[in-house]
Amino acid sequence: MEKKLNPRHLDVVNFARDALSLKGEGMLADWPRLAQELFGSAMPAGPVVWQLQGRSVPQPGASDQIWLDLQARVDLPMQCQRCLTPVLETVKADRSFRFVADEATAAALDDEVEEDILVISRDFDALSLIEDELILSLPLVPLHEKCPEALPMSAADPEFEAAAQRPNPFGVLAGLKSDRST
Ligand SMILES: [Zn+2]
Repeated sequence: MEKKLNPRHLDVVNFARDALSLKGEGMLADWPRLAQELFGSAMPAGPVVWQLQGRSVPQPGASDQIWLDLQARVDLPMQCQRCLTPVLETVKADRSFRFVADEATAAALDDEVEEDILVISRDFDALSLIEDELILSLPLVPLHEKCPEALPMSAADPEFEAAAQRPNPFGVLAGLKSDRST
């Protein structure tokens, strides 16, 4: 029988050595740090879809390197920074991590190599790593390619005229102030 793998408690050494893979789908509510980025409730957020692949890379004259390949995506409603209404952003993460024996090795390698280095764990929370990666992949400035409603730009727009005729609340306030001072 195949051993049941728990992505919250992954033995990364075995996972890589046996070239195991795992995939899954989770509701956004189960990813609280990511769910914080959600804007409004007008659009449903997609599930978080993820997969993990373990990999060991033979090294001449040394022990195999341990790697974890991670891919994840989620459709996340965020706030468009132009029109301030929800925009559905597809957030994708695709990254590989190399695991090393201890913190000291990781710190030493961090300066030397381009790759992302983590410390080997026999009880690794891969779902938390997926959440981190998706958060890092969020768009800095969420924007619609084309905002759903153009802002009223011309006086020919009936809504614009209605807005223009409405008394400006600050103007009213200023009027009250000057009334009081006289
Ligand atoms: Zn917009």
